[in-house]
Amino acid sequence: MVDHPSTALRGALIVTQDDARRVLRGDLLFRNGTIEQVGPAIKEKADLEIDARGYLLAPGFLNTHAHVANALLKGIADDRGFMQFLDTMFAIDAKRTEVDIEAGALLGVSEMLLSGTTGFLDMYYGEDAVARACERTGIRGFLGWTVLDPEITTQKGIPLENARGFISRWKHHARVSPLVALQGVYACKDETWLKGKELAEKEKVLLHYHLSETRGEVQENEKQRGKRPPEWLDSLGFLGRHQVAAHGVWLTNREIELLARKGVAVAHCPSSNMKLASGGGGICPVTELRAAGATVSLATDSSTSNNGLSMLREMHLAALAHKQQRHDPESLPAPVVLDMATRDAAHALGRDRDLGALAPGFQADLVLYDLSHPSMLPTRPENAISNLVYSAGDGAVHTVFVHGEKVVEDRRLVKLDWAKVVPDIERAAEGLLKTG
Ligand SMILES: [Zn+2]
Repeated sequence: MVDHPSTALRGALIVTQDDARRVLRGDLLFRNGTIEQVGPAIKEKADLEIDARGYLLAPGFLNTHAHVANALLKGIADDRGFMQFLDTMFAIDAKRTEVDIEAGALLGVSEMLLSGTTGFLDMYYGEDAVARACERTGIRGFLGWTVLDPEITTQKGIPLENARGFISRWKHHARVSPLVALQGVYACKDETWLKGKELAEKEKVLLHYHLSETRGEVQENEKQRGKRPPEWLDSLGFLGRHQVAAHGVWLTNREIELLARKGVAVAHCPSSNMKLASGGGGICPVTELRAAGATVSLATDSSTSNNGLSMLREMHLAALAHKQQRHDPESLPAPVVLDMATRDAAHALGRDRDLGALAPGFQADLVLYDLSHPSMLPTRPENAISNLVYSAGDGAVHTVFVHGEKVVEDRRLVKLDWAKVVPDIERAAEGLLKTG
């Protein structure tokens, strides 16, 4: 957007995701990264005019739970239970360096941008390297430094202090929003939860954490602390607004009501939960959470438990999994799933006034899908949302803007020379994959 203060996209099929969920044929005009007008025919001329006929224009996806640097580790911990999976991951975590974290993050972020994701919520350590990957590619990063009990961490130094330092280094960055990420009840004692919350409140940043992902985690917490995880966290005075809990597979009706009442958002990660059999036939109670008034967003989780980072694929799976599990084809209809990947995700991140929809005042985080791509042909206003959720392939993602800056053009990253980056990624993977 340095070269063109104002840009107009003309003649697109626009899925606005605005409050009225308008789907229309028309134009969108943005200036200095902010959308000014969306409508059937905008008269004003822009500095850059783009013919967008033949494209579907939609807000970029917000992936609300990832460990993006693990893109380097895909395929190394498949077909095993959660505890064995964690053992493998912790052994590798201990060996990771900032160089391979940045290489992994570049890989993961690239996969996200090329599949229409313009922002993501991450949980890891070494997040400075992930932040640099965001700068190098142009994606928006909500980056949570993992905090856990100091006596069990593989991080150098004290995790809470590492998080504090990370937040102070990146707090005023345009596209990187640092935050506090707590690993989960199995890695954090009460003092760790409360100090994490204190830091987040002092710095006015989000809190992100794993919650009730597996049955074993819930049972162990009941055994050790006499309460299921959400009730225990509530008894500590931890639960509250500006928090995104990942998974929420094992929740009782009382816990659903509690999370809704406390304003905790839940990030649903169906691929990861199904692959690790975390639900054992069950699934995050998205319908009940929504009915109780909780915000539910969608997420891929990590490349080691998914093993991709495409929100298009995640939307498809989420819709199908809920229909199958509940014996109800009307469960999680396409418009709800698209909301979870866009405007509800923005709400979870505390950004519902400028992200997740195409409307005046919102950031120009936009994706153009090629309507001649076989997975999108034929698309009309009537089936546009269905095609996005059920049939769109990553190959349909043609052009992506973040804050008005073109970061993907003709299915290629704009800011990164991919051919030059591949050897770095291969080299970083070399040492790590041997240890798997
Ligand atoms: Zn996770």
